[in-house]
Amino acid sequence: MSEFLPFSLPEIDQNEIDEVVDTLRSGWITTGAKTKQFEKEFAEFIGGGVEALAVNSATAGLHLALEALGVSCGDEVIIPTYTFTATAEVVRYLGATPVLVDVIERTFNIDPNTIENAITPKTKVIIPVHFAGLACDMGRILAIAKKYGLKVVEDAAHALPTTYCQKMIGSLESDATVFSFYANKTMTTGEGGMIVTRHSTVADRCKIMRLHGISKDAFDRYSAKTPSWFYEVVAPGYKYNMTDIAASMGIHQLRKLSAFQEKREQMAQEYKFLLKDLPLILPVDANDGDIHARHLFPIILKGDEVKISRDEFISKLSEVGIGCSVHFIPLHVHPYWKESCNVTVGEFPVAQSLYENEVSIPLFTRMTKSDQLRVVAEIKAALSHG
Ligand SMILES: *Cc1c(COP(=O)(O)O)cnc(C)c1O
Repeated sequence: MSEFLPFSLPEIDQNEIDEVVDTLRSGWITTGAKTKQFEKEFAEFIGGGVEALAVNSATAGLHLALEALGVSCGDEVIIPTYTFTATAEVVRYLGATPVLVDVIERTFNIDPNTIENAITPKTKVIIPVHFAGLACDMGRILAIAKKYGLKVVEDAAHALPTTYCQKMIGSLESDATVFSFYANKTMTTGEGGMIVTRHSTVADRCKIMRLHGISKDAFDRYSAKTPSWFYEVVAPGYKYNMTDIAASMGIHQLRKLSAFQEKREQMAQEYKFLLKDLPLILPVDANDGDIHARHLFPIILKGDEVKISRDEFISKLSEVGIGCSVHFIPLHVHPYWKESCNVTVGEFPVAQSLYENEVSIPLFTRMTKSDQLRVVAEIKAALSHG
């Protein structure tokens, strides 16, 4: 059997390794100059005059953004059921209620029509998730938010770099956007995330709350003119700061991000060409002139034409050494969310049918042409043996 081809692998080069070693030798390994540099370069990359705040995960970033917007007990937050549990759990951290809605079949993204139906007097925030790196219909979502006086926090864990109407996700009119640098995302710091916002009130609150509710961060304490031992606690904050070790990786990953995206897009187009005659629904492209981050390559098995089940398909690929995954097991399927949101499968027909037939196949920048041809050959074999 050939070597195992995993579903995803990070691409870490000598630059990241050298920068991390430099940080380790420097004597300053927690939040400091490298994190500041990473934030500055990230904000410039997104553009539109945003501020960027590094945190230790996107989950932490989503939590901080909602907290800064004043989400609390009794509030409702609208999110797509077709997402990772992190999008919803942060709502619970604040004592608020996630309200799950269905998605659009073609894009897997939150359906603006379902958003409008889910709005109540308790609704405070909408969290669109740019699935696989394809932008949601932000024009309609922002218009709905404006009409009903709601806030918008974008879960952009997959959407780096992604554009909507030629604007970078992160630079739109939302209240905050949160990116993930988890190991399998389009760039990584091992664990990490970034909050991006154009609103200084949101940025200021997130800055304080990401480090214990202290009014100045640790680095400022050691560089400012006030006595180095002095700080004030103004709120019961969290411990969500990024380390300079992680930021060292981020600085170099960010510089390669556009090249990574081009490689991913090229591979996605190659997959679309090679798989086009099979009984599969393949992912759509971004609108003309826009960028799709291609974090995932989700394929849908056409139930009536494919004889094997989705689970058998994944087993067959696994037997020949190809790692696949499923994105996502929708929230309404998980015991906790099903019970605590009091929802049934029938309320989310689109998400349910996508889930039952979806497979995410390997797509990462270190994959070779021959890896890709091997995946395609094994998909063909699995489908024909059904
Ligand atoms: C990965 C992911 C997150 C969480 O990111 P972390 O950095 O691991 O906290 C949130 N939402 C979505 C949609 C994700 O895929």
